[in-house]
Amino acid sequence: MRADGNNPQPNSKIKPTFLRRILSVFIKAVVLLMLLFVFDRLLPSISQHTQSFVLAKWQQLSLLQQPRPTENSLPSPLPTQHLTDTWGGARSQGRTHEGIDIFAKRGTPIQATTPGIVSKVGENTLGGRVVVIIGPGAAGHYYAHLEDYADISPNDWVNAGDIIGYVGDSGNAKGTPPHVHYGIYINGSAVNPYPLLQKPDS
Ligand SMILES: [Zn+2]
Repeated sequence: MRADGNNPQPNSKIKPTFLRRILSVFIKAVVLLMLLFVFDRLLPSISQHTQSFVLAKWQQLSLLQQPRPTENSLPSPLPTQHLTDTWGGARSQGRTHEGIDIFAKRGTPIQATTPGIVSKVGENTLGGRVVVIIGPGAAGHYYAHLEDYADISPNDWVNAGDIIGYVGDSGNAKGTPPHVHYGIYINGSAVNPYPLLQKPDS
């Protein structure tokens, strides 16, 4: 019976359903157009906000997934200065040296060794004026005893080679020859930066 296309009975039943579908599609189209119109009006502000937010999140996520620094992979914070492995040396109150000191004239610009997100620009007792940057593999990069900071703030993005501050003797280095104390922290533990840094002499 269904094979007979000329049967008027099913046709008259299909028609209202078909009209309702057309109407429903039409209403959806009108609503969609209205939404598009509203979004179009708001788009300049929304898209700028969304773009920078999405870009920042994407940068953070890709940063965390990048490999941690490997041997001789990092440019030095002071690329022209001689490097000495001063890791592990005895310090006051039973501490050992959790980083290396790189000496240079007061005010020499200090460069970020990795891309990353600035996590601290501020002071502490031992380090004086310090900058902390979270880099690839979520490794923390600690620059201490600065004379001054570059124009950076927490949550800023930096690239390797960007100037983050200037060599000084702040904190417990007061009165010693100006240098940057550079430390690397992986999962909260200090690792020796010396093997990871490119040596200017080689
Ligand atoms: Zn030091």
